[in-house]
Amino acid sequence: MSLDTPFRSCTDTPVLKERGQREVFCGLTGIIWLHRKMQDAFFLVVGSRTCAHLLQAAAGVMIFAEPRFGTAILEEKDLAGLADANAELDREVARLLSRRPDIRQLFLVGSCPSEVIKIDLARAAERLDGVHAPNVRVLNFSGSGIETTFTEGEDACLASMVPALPATDATELLVVGALPDVVEDQMLSLLAAMGAGPVRTLPARRSTDLPAVGPNTRFILVQPFLGATHAALIKRGATPISAPFPFGEEGSTLWFHAVAEALGLDRAKVDAVLAAPRARAQKSVAAVAETLRGKSIFFFPDSQLEIPLARFLARECGMVPVEVGTPYLHRELMAPELALLPHGPTISEGQDVELQLDRARAARADLTVCGLGLANPLEAEGLTTKWAIELVFTPVHFYEQAADLAGLFARPIRRRALLTPEAA
Ligand code: SF4
Repeated sequence: MSLDTPFRSCTDTPVLKERGQREVFCGLTGIIWLHRKMQDAFFLVVGSRTCAHLLQAAAGVMIFAEPRFGTAILEEKDLAGLADANAELDREVARLLSRRPDIRQLFLVGSCPSEVIKIDLARAAERLDGVHAPNVRVLNFSGSGIETTFTEGEDACLASMVPALPATDATELLVVGALPDVVEDQMLSLLAAMGAGPVRTLPARRSTDLPAVGPNTRFILVQPFLGATHAALIKRGATPISAPFPFGEEGSTLWFHAVAEALGLDRAKVDAVLAAPRARAQKSVAAVAETLRGKSIFFFPDSQLEIPLARFLARECGMVPVEVGTPYLHRELMAPELALLPHGPTISEGQDVELQLDRARAARADLTVCGLGLANPLEAEGLTTKWAIELVFTPVHFYEQAADLAGLFARPIRRRALLTPEAA
């Protein structure tokens, strides 16, 4: 006998809003995955040695052949306003572009130092675009820790591209958000089999493939942190498709179904296309979920992936979210996710790190997802942690990656059980 209780979601859960000290990476971090994706782009950070070190340290774990990012380092004399930073920037850009004719898109990326000394990079980009067009398009965005956290760098980058995209009246689907090529190819082949073509992506791998946008463009996000890009595309007349994000079997299926409905595709055909990958994902996630079932999880706010991931872990892996923190809660983008997330956890937005640490210590969840800076001290206190940054550096979207996504959470729990068998 079972009791059939109606499902209660987090749609109406009051949000705990905190504004205090934050412990998160800045938006420069996004360059690490964007430079791999956009093969003829270059990201020139106008910043300090700290910015250069952050990029090198973060990129040090990645393998890449030709560097597609660099830092124009502001020296002390620039910071003191003694040098004409604009003239130096023009010289550096000219030198870079003459050495690297493969560069077709150049992003001037703002940082804390460039903002503090108020270098107008929007102006600089406009000026340099005039000089180097049509061979190179020069754009700018900010990755500064004053303005952005972690994944907001990608949002700022893509939003900077939208006004410069060509116009079209064509009826096209645009998928928005950087995915590893192999994952993007899986998604595109399923969309093609469903009959969703033509499909374009932003960012494109090369500038020659940049999508056009207009009143007949329907677009859908694959990353939850693209609020500014979402707004910029609407401003260009494109229509958003609202859906949960494609994490796990359920999220991926609802995402494809939303596309199918928006484009008026034949549902029976869509379900036939999705049947085999769905079955594979269900089976592979179920195997990993054995480690996760019944375990509690606490999310610090890092990437804006937290709410969709909590939904996946709760519904497909049987985990129990205690607190789900997000740096910023975009009500419209998160509505489909909150409607699926089972009622129970505290939903928090922003951060006051000391207060949140107190809550995490009191909760002593089986797994705490947080940034690198918090993980070590919490591990030392006997908590099991997962680094949030791995969630954006690992292919985790759509069916074939669903078990890997669950595995990212299962590994630290298994490791802890091996180290402290009495606690398992
Ligand atoms: Fe640090 Fe700011 Fe540079 Fe980011 S942009 S590395 S927060 S100085």
